[in-house]
Amino acid sequence: MKLTEHVYLAGSGHYGLSQEFDCSIYIVDCGSRLVMVDTGAGLDMERIFNNMKKDGLDPGKISDILLTHSHSDHAGGAAELKRLYGPQIYISDIESPFIKGGDDESLKLDVAKRSGLYSPDYKFNPCQPTDTLKDGDIIKAGNFDFESIIVPGHSEGSTCFKVNLPEGLALFTGDVVFAQGTIGLLNCDGSDLSVYRKNIHKLSDLGIDLLFPGHFVFTVSGGQGHIDKAIDSLSLITVPKNFI
Ligand SMILES: [Zn+2]
Repeated sequence: MKLTEHVYLAGSGHYGLSQEFDCSIYIVDCGSRLVMVDTGAGLDMERIFNNMKKDGLDPGKISDILLTHSHSDHAGGAAELKRLYGPQIYISDIESPFIKGGDDESLKLDVAKRSGLYSPDYKFNPCQPTDTLKDGDIIKAGNFDFESIIVPGHSEGSTCFKVNLPEGLALFTGDVVFAQGTIGLLNCDGSDLSVYRKNIHKLSDLGIDLLFPGHFVFTVSGGQGHIDKAIDSLSLITVPKNFI
């Protein structure tokens, strides 16, 4: 589904575009290359490829996969995409070991399965990333440069990706910040409110227009206002509004 001049939604469980566990799977058309931000759970890649084809996008042109973090609904399809098309696969250095190992405990799949978010027989397909990211790294992809902003809190190395598109300054936030300023605090290892508080300021004063979270609603203008709500809520005495 075409969202803006250069950004497409190729899959999403929430919008019924792909398998129910899938996060929002974004494609950025960078000219000769396509960048995918998050892959979904990897349970029905064919449907995602068909969505892309309907939008005139060739899945074979996926050159770079930017993973916001290692949770299965975001990174579970990376191994299959690597096998099919051989793209570069980027994830923070902090979470790289989790997708390499692929075990339920380090991916927090054990608690997610207990919570009914995945079927007990779901298996994460381990993936060897081609590149690991540190805060502030730049990924050059065709016409656009993506900057990694590592904001731990939802998970140990959750990463947002900022890119300056002709339609505006865009931020892909994974599960760090959602529309209306909700945050992605979980009751599992790696998710930590005090760590959120210490890191959320990295998203201050960016002047973001387009906000593309890993679930639910996106916005094509005024994105920074949604981020600022999250920053404000993390400065108050009460636990901020959560995404689920
Ligand atoms: Zn997550």
